[in-house]
Amino acid sequence: MLSILRSLVQEVNSARDLQEALDIIVSRVQKAMGTEVCSVYLQDPVTNRYILMATEGLYRKAVGRVSLGYSEGLVGLVGSREEPINLEDAPSHPRYRYFPETGEERFRSFLGVPIIHHRRVLGVLVVQQRESRCFDEGEEAFLVTVSAQLAGVIAHGEATGAISGMSLTGREARDVSFNGVPGAPGVAIGTGVVVYPAADLDAVPEKPTDDIESEVALFQSAVRAVREDIERVANRLASQLRPEEQALFDVYLRMLGDEALPGEVVNRIREGIWAQGALKQVVQQYVRHFEMMDDHYLQERAVDVRDLGRRLLSHLQEGEQRHLVYPEKTVLVSEELTPAMLGEVPKGRLVGLVSVKGSSNSHVAILARAMGVPTVMGLVDIPVNQLDGKELIVDGFEGQIFASPSADLRAFYQEICDEEDELVRGLEALRDKPCETTDGHRVSLLVNTGLMTDVVRSLSHGAEGIGLYRTEVPFMIKDRFPSEQEQREYYREQLEAFAPNPVTMRTLDVGGDKALAYFPINEENPFLGWRGIRVTLDHPEIFLVQVRAMLKASEGLNNLQIMLPMISNVSEVEESLHLIYRVYHEVREEGYDIHMPKVGVMVEVPAAVYQIRELADRVDFLSVGSNDLTQYLLAVDRNNPRVAQLYHSYHPAVLQALVRIAQDAHAVGKPAGICGELAGDPGGALLLMAMGYDSLSMNAASLPKVKSVIRSVSREWAMQLLEDVLMLDSPHVIKSCVDLALRNAGFGRYLRPGKTSSLALSEQAAS
Ligand code: PEP
Ligand code: MG
Repeated sequence: MLSILRSLVQEVNSARDLQEALDIIVSRVQKAMGTEVCSVYLQDPVTNRYILMATEGLYRKAVGRVSLGYSEGLVGLVGSREEPINLEDAPSHPRYRYFPETGEERFRSFLGVPIIHHRRVLGVLVVQQRESRCFDEGEEAFLVTVSAQLAGVIAHGEATGAISGMSLTGREARDVSFNGVPGAPGVAIGTGVVVYPAADLDAVPEKPTDDIESEVALFQSAVRAVREDIERVANRLASQLRPEEQALFDVYLRMLGDEALPGEVVNRIREGIWAQGALKQVVQQYVRHFEMMDDHYLQERAVDVRDLGRRLLSHLQEGEQRHLVYPEKTVLVSEELTPAMLGEVPKGRLVGLVSVKGSSNSHVAILARAMGVPTVMGLVDIPVNQLDGKELIVDGFEGQIFASPSADLRAFYQEICDEEDELVRGLEALRDKPCETTDGHRVSLLVNTGLMTDVVRSLSHGAEGIGLYRTEVPFMIKDRFPSEQEQREYYREQLEAFAPNPVTMRTLDVGGDKALAYFPINEENPFLGWRGIRVTLDHPEIFLVQVRAMLKASEGLNNLQIMLPMISNVSEVEESLHLIYRVYHEVREEGYDIHMPKVGVMVEVPAAVYQIRELADRVDFLSVGSNDLTQYLLAVDRNNPRVAQLYHSYHPAVLQALVRIAQDAHAVGKPAGICGELAGDPGGALLLMAMGYDSLSMNAASLPKVKSVIRSVSREWAMQLLEDVLMLDSPHVIKSCVDLALRNAGFGRYLRPGKTSSLALSEQAAS
């Protein structure tokens, strides 16, 4: 069964479009199960109906014509119950609905299983038999497995169709949305430019061409070049290879003959597809063909075809890279964005970023935040290759993008862009004003930095210091560990820019999802593994060099603070302090005139929440890393879009933990700050201020908004709001309550449209 499933999934995965995928599914499942009928019905969100999309066994003419309401017939019943229905005699079931155009009356037994992807019922997979019998357990389990395996592919196929502007019924689809995770805040409206690593066939986008002859010429010259390459290699190796090994090159050259692969590619180009896309299609078809063969030798040929495809592609791309056109408002889209890709875009044209892989902690997201480019990461189900040249809306607040936007949705987001600009301009006046409530309660507003660009932006936004300098960022942009001298230079820049205000440097925090290319950490469960202080205590040579560089960089400025990430017990603090003291004395002995910096602990792990007093007794300050603390308290991977709806910073458990941390730290006379994303959320900042946090550290872009909200309310008012929300038990209700309070206080503009509000808007537009 496993091998049938594997080859089915493989075939379906390489189908050209949704229809081909569905046709493959019904024909293979019908064959594998030996049933007389296999059909697939998909839900069409535009018409709210199940449509018969493909069948083997019913009349083909019914495909696309027969449809049922959401709760109509047995198909509707399977969909609404979200579980299999197995009937010996379907026509006698009260929900049975007969469609003469299908020829269904001949079949008595019925087994339908829902196709569900991320909780959404996409459709129903049905098998039918003439004979009146119940399908056995094995058959039912097989169909359920097929359906579960294929749901993702079907969702992807649907999305691809929708992106190209087509719903299942061939109607125009608009406001197609995809959810990922926020990478950098802000909204962008622009044109998608798909960039992809060189010579990666799978990443080649689908594009039409209107200059067929020049695409054919381009392809033919690539074929000539590859031929020459292969002949050269074959000649060079002639004396070292036996004739049968040399024959491999003949296979390659034969495949490059006009009648073989190139001929088929040229035919596809003549159908109007650009050369790279045509090559991709033909190579994938060959590969599929070879991989399906039973003969092991022939299966292996798939590797040769893929290799040949890559060689041809790399020659095609040599010509192509030069004329990649970046529109005025470019939204860069890629499977995996790299900083180098960002660098290719001409100055002033990059408005948004979209990456399938990666998270808000990816290097590229950090860079995007520094540059102020709205970014969405981790868009798993998106058909990247279809986005080239499409109008896209990037909502970096919510981690969502829209393709084929309707005029209403575009206008809605344009207004947000305009308001955002206006808001930022309006807030410039607050730059030098203190962050103080109307009843005189003062909070320090600090920034999170990683690159020098952040520092420049932070200064212009009126930050009072750095609450979190992520030292891993300069480590990430190198191809080896930076030397002590290099680190010293990075650190000095940050310290100088803010002196005499405090600059809090976090010791290297790698592991989890933060990787250094030159120090790979491969673990089954990286967030519970070797990360943060655990790594650096195991590698004192890294820790000591870093602290030495920090201390030397602080000479004469005396504004350095050191912070320890991922602390889960007191001995980690003691060991770290021991090393810091050791370096401090050594550096002083070397003649540097430095002061012992304040040292703090990050509260990011639930265990730390329950040991605040013990931790605080040993250090000078505490700073809550609410991003990690939320992830660990709720057991929700902060970068996994599948569980993103469970990651909620307003969860009552998170708020209770935050209250407790501030109280316990103050009880032993130590200041408590916060440097997770919650601090930069206007509503979150109000609650944190009410809890008594002494400092809030955030993105430079959020700082003016937070300052304006805090300056407009009294602490007493915020404390009442906190008291009210602490009585509530649902994160969603808490969020609505805080939003309402902000709205009533005149800050409705600071609330970004949620997924629900934008969806409601698109539904409204559709009706
Ligand atoms: C946090 O976890 O909240 C934090 C500030 O650290 P990072 O986001 O870098 O893990
Ligand atoms: Mg953290």
